[in-house]
This record gives sequence, structure tokens and C-alpha cells, in this order.
Amino acid sequence: METARVLLDTRALHREITVVHAPDAWFLKRGLTPRAVRAALPGRSFTAARRRGKLLLVDLDGDGSAPARSGSVLGLHLGMSGRVLVDDEAAGDPLLFASNKADPAWHRFGVTFADGGTMFLRDPRRLGAVELDPDEDRLGPDAFELTLAQLRGITGRSRAPVKAVIMDQSRVAGLGNLLCDEALWRAGIDPARPADDLGDHEVRRLHRAIRDTLRILGRRGGSHTGDLTSARGPGLACPKDGAPLLRRTVGGRTTYSCPRHQI
Ligand SMILES: [Zn+2]
Repeated sequence: METARVLLDTRALHREITVVHAPDAWFLKRGLTPRAVRAALPGRSFTAARRRGKLLLVDLDGDGSAPARSGSVLGLHLGMSGRVLVDDEAAGDPLLFASNKADPAWHRFGVTFADGGTMFLRDPRRLGAVELDPDEDRLGPDAFELTLAQLRGITGRSRAPVKAVIMDQSRVAGLGNLLCDEALWRAGIDPARPADDLGDHEVRRLHRAIRDTLRILGRRGGSHTGDLTSARGPGLACPKDGAPLLRRTVGGRTTYSCPRHQI
């Protein structure tokens, strides 16, 4: 992380951005769209690279010419396999990553500068993310890096429905509505259960299910590719046991679950 920050800080600042590459909508998080990020960055440049835990924060210069455009900080999550490249030079161990450094399919996000150079986020496993204006003070641990001990602490402190708790970005950053439903379905836990009611074996199962869900759906192509998500809708059945799915509002969001195996 620190080498990536230093690379950005020494090589990517004060260069005007002309083109934004955002080929992978899954990689954009917290409501950011390819269209929005393409509108927000051109004509501006990075002014500083900071770090908050595993999150890289790249400050953008002011935008006097178009005050309506949003965004003053670009947040880069490198996940487990992400690397920053500036002008094709990677931060990190060149031997370890030499094998995949040239494959442009792994460039999930990037910009071209006016001088012709580039900055890319390369991520073979697609576990990283890009967002605009991350709420730096309110973010809980990133879902990809959530430890069992952290999940125990988070669930043990709340009577709210477990789905509402893991969807709360201040407790766990990065789990949206569909991902929460999918993880709870995989874990066999009723989304409406009070979080502090979960036994230790259930918290373990949920922890494993969150990791599996992020890994599997990331590989398939997004949060809409879950097994449960594909079965969402009236009259549809649990892909595991065929029971008719239950549709409710939990934590303020439409929630699907299986009344047979999610208890
Ligand atoms: Zn079921």
C-alpha cells in the first residue's frame, strides 16, 4: 500500500487528466457510475496521494470551470491483488507480479494524462474498488478485509436485524443489498435475526459466506450474478432446496430469503 501511495505521490501528481478508463462497472462502488467518473475527472489533476488503512485517497484539484461537477477525492481500494501502475511502472514486487503486468484485461480503472502517460489500477482478481469522495471518517473495515474478530464485535453490539448491521457502511464498508442477501442465504441465516442473537458458529459461517460471496460474484461479474439474486422475484424458489422464497423489507430494503434453510 505504501509503495503504491509513493508511486502516485511521486509520479502521478499535477498532470492533467484527459481520458478516464472505466470499463468495469463492478469495480466502481457506492453509487459511482462509469458516466459519473468520466464526467468528474477530465481537465483536473491529482494534487496529493494519502492513505487511510487499506484505502488510497487521491486528492483532485479544484474545479472552478465547472462547479457543478462533483468529487474532490478519488478513493482506490486495492483489494488483495490490486496494483497501481503509473506510465506502466508497477508499485510492488516486480518479480512477483511480472507475469500479469502486461495484460490490459486486468486494468479495471485508469486515466490518461495530457502528456500521454497513464495511471492504471490493475487487479487480476477484481477484488479492488474505486469510489469518489469516500466518507473517510465513517468507514468501517472493508468487507474484503473483514476479520472474524471484527465481525464478532460488529454483530455482538447490535440488536438490529443482522442484514441491517452488515449493510451499514459505518460497520462494514462495501456490502450492498444484493451481496448481503446472497451472503446470508449462503450462510443459512435469517436476515431479520437480531445480530447479537447469532451464536459463534453462525458468525463464523457468515464470515466465510461474506468472503465466498465477494470472491465468487467478483469472478462472475458483479453483485447481480448471485445464485439467490438470479432467483429473486415473485413465486420463485430457493436454488438450494426449492422452498418458495420469502420477500420482506429488512433494514429498509427489499429482502429475499429462504424460509426453509435460513433460520
Ligand atoms: Zn433454501
